[in-house]
Amino acid sequence: MNHFFRLVYFLKYAKKETAIRILLGLGIVGAQFSQTWFLAKMVIAVCEKRNMKEILLFFLAEFLSLFIRAGLIKYQEYFLKKYAAKVKNEIRSQILDKIMVLGPSFKNDQRTGNLQSLITDGVESLEAFLTQYIPQIAVVIFTTIFVTTFMCRLDRTVGLLLFFMSAVTVIVPHVFMPAVSDVMVLYWKEYAQLNAQYIDDMQGMSTLKSLGVSKKEGKRLKDQAIGFAAESMRNLGISLSDSTLITICITAGTSISILLSAIHVAQGKIPYAVLIQVLFLAGECLKPMNDLSIYWHNSYTGLSVAEELLYVLDYPVPEKTKENLQTTGIGEKPEIVLRNLSFQYEKDGADVLKNVDMVFESGKVTAIAGKSGSGKSTIVNLLLGFYETEKNRIQIDGKALESFESDYLRSQISVVFQDSFLFYGTVRDNIRMARPEASDAEIIQAAMAANVHEFIVNLPNGYDTLVGERGATLSGGERQRIAIARAILKNAPILILDEATSSVDCKNEQEIQNALKEAMKDRTTLVIAHRMTTIEDADRIYVMQNGLVEGCGTHEELLQKDQIYQNLVRAQSYE
Ligand code: ADP
Repeated sequence: MNHFFRLVYFLKYAKKETAIRILLGLGIVGAQFSQTWFLAKMVIAVCEKRNMKEILLFFLAEFLSLFIRAGLIKYQEYFLKKYAAKVKNEIRSQILDKIMVLGPSFKNDQRTGNLQSLITDGVESLEAFLTQYIPQIAVVIFTTIFVTTFMCRLDRTVGLLLFFMSAVTVIVPHVFMPAVSDVMVLYWKEYAQLNAQYIDDMQGMSTLKSLGVSKKEGKRLKDQAIGFAAESMRNLGISLSDSTLITICITAGTSISILLSAIHVAQGKIPYAVLIQVLFLAGECLKPMNDLSIYWHNSYTGLSVAEELLYVLDYPVPEKTKENLQTTGIGEKPEIVLRNLSFQYEKDGADVLKNVDMVFESGKVTAIAGKSGSGKSTIVNLLLGFYETEKNRIQIDGKALESFESDYLRSQISVVFQDSFLFYGTVRDNIRMARPEASDAEIIQAAMAANVHEFIVNLPNGYDTLVGERGATLSGGERQRIAIARAILKNAPILILDEATSSVDCKNEQEIQNALKEAMKDRTTLVIAHRMTTIEDADRIYVMQNGLVEGCGTHEELLQKDQIYQNLVRAQSYE
């Protein structure tokens, strides 16, 4: 029930539109009611053999009501689209903002497909509940007050009966709610799982094919889809049971009203003309309740999404992003110190970093070497503030990392990841992303420094060439050099190269090395490298193993004294 009200709260962002939707709903009900009422009046006039002019007048009034109703319905259709888009946009931007605030540590814990289903289909399914069901409740309340008063004037018992039936049709769905919501939550989970699986399989298609397991995976997907279909049928059964009950109430309400009026006519309590009016109007009076039931039915999926949606929106924000934090204090070539730093990804999990002490000296290049899984990337994640650590374990220019505002901290760090992500858009936009206010000349300058300008100008549309999803149209090395151009353009005092050349062939590697040298100038640089050649020139190299710092020195020093390092060099590749 709490979820129910929390969802309704989103209408706060479209108060005016909600009011218009209610007024439109009332207008349509009013037009429909008067259309039927004039029809009843016309029939009574015919039965009473009144003059033709009066009959024609009722006919024209009925016709006019019909036109007004048709016009209002048409406008409502158009209006609903605008109204729904506004509400859904608001919800989507709130979820996206929250995911951005929570950052990669939250995203890594969820399946990407699940979050994607929530933002797209999940929010879409809230439309019926928020823009139809909720406003319709207001329409039903106003209609019930009017109908009860109007019908009581005709026949008191019928008026009260219709009031009772209206109340029942509004209350019934909420009695069923606990049972329905359990089934629907399960339904949505199955749906999100299936969606996530499809996305996984699409992204990993080449891997599946190369492993020769695409058929097996296809079968698994099919079984999952069948399971989902069974779940859909189960939820349909439950949801239909309450709408059947509502339909029975509405039909019974109409029939009993007519029966009561007929008895009252027979008893001489009311004239037969009232019976005709009840005959025509009783069904009309309960129509908004019928619409309410349909909207309720359409709202089920939306309600089932509520739990997941609110889970994301209520997810506690790390303390760091809440307080008034520093937005200055990092110098041009900052010194970074890790002091006795230990870290686990999961609460009570194993230590991924164990009492790590490191110093990344001002304006120098520091490298971290170590086998895969030794904790190198974890240090990068912590420097970027993606995860919380014990206080004051990481210091930048003498100040605790957590004392800086996240946006400021990240603006001071350029990172080139091993698999740099290029977004769908032009090459120019992809480079500019690092500094939106950068001029075209600055972008070209950064591309030149990254050794990628020549390559870009030879693309079909030069800097305006579109690069596909994940930069699919470019090779690993080309993407990497564009990412380096991005890092150079950002011009941040700290540069992190996280295995920046590991996915690149040797020819490209040399070009990238040259580009990187340019990027490292006058900055404090941290290099995490897969290939020894990329760290030979580093001012200091830390050797890591199983989360521990096992050695430290220059390339030559380590070659002399450090066995782990010697092994790494011998193996050339750590894996
Ligand atoms: P490296 O960069 O040296 O290859 P990582 O820092 O990526 O090593 O990983 C160190 C350890 O932390 C590994 O055992 C890895 O499985 C674990 N790890 C990395 N990322 C996560 C994560 N998001 N959640 C849980 N464990 C993780």
